[in-house]
Amino acid sequence: MNVENRKASGWDVIGGQFWRLGRTSARPSMKDVSLYLDGVVSQSRVCVIGASTVDLIQASVNCGASVTVLDFSEVMCHDAREAITGPAEMLCMDITVQENRFAACFDAILCDRLVNRFTEAEAIAALRNIKHMLAGRGMIRCGVKIGLYEMDRRMIAAGAKAGRLHEFFDEATATIDFAAAGAILEECVVPHGSIPHNALLDWYKARGKEKRFAESDFPLLVARQDVGLRVASQLWLPDAPSTIMYELVAD
Ligand code: SAM
Repeated sequence: MNVENRKASGWDVIGGQFWRLGRTSARPSMKDVSLYLDGVVSQSRVCVIGASTVDLIQASVNCGASVTVLDFSEVMCHDAREAITGPAEMLCMDITVQENRFAACFDAILCDRLVNRFTEAEAIAALRNIKHMLAGRGMIRCGVKIGLYEMDRRMIAAGAKAGRLHEFFDEATATIDFAAAGAILEECVVPHGSIPHNALLDWYKARGKEKRFAESDFPLLVARQDVGLRVASQLWLPDAPSTIMYELVAD
């Protein structure tokens, strides 16, 4: 039985406000988009995970690829469907839950900073599913922000000062739990473009637990025996802050 992923409710709160009102550096620039799409041609079978990545979806459609978008938030899927011009199949699906429908279906699977929304266990489950969806000789391009966000730093400093850090931050796994931070989250929330304050708080609370990645973490994670991927290449995206785009292939 699939347990409903409560993190989706946070993205339902935000929907299209993410690209209409949110901070632009949270999304790939057109330069970043062209790196994600390097080598993608007309008729390539592309899967974008994360309907919020509308510029990448639109650019994939524009280059004539056959585009499928997967996202677990109904609202995000709805709002992206309205924003995209041209054919893109949009499906509501949680990538951390096993689904056999797309076995060996895609030449390129693209996700920008999706992994930063996961715990380590969720990242492993998602990567295993993504690998399963990859056609022979297909590749995954996966953007991962390295290190802490400004808001994490503020929360960690405030939590340490209040003696409450252990309640919402697991140092061993560098995992922050926004839902458990209570008043510290409210005190430390950083504006995200002009997304309204209350929506921002509800979004973070529902996002719950997220792992932060050191530079060495992700290659080790993908190379685990139960994931079975390897890093074919990697580059720092020019406009996304401290973000590496990894190209992954089946090992
Ligand atoms: N940097 C990204 C961008 O430019 O849109 C934002 C990060 S990530 C791609 C955010 C998107 O992933 C949201 O639309 C969210 O609903 C979706 N998402 C998060 N966790 C998911 C999951 N487990 N399964 C499917 N979609 C997910």
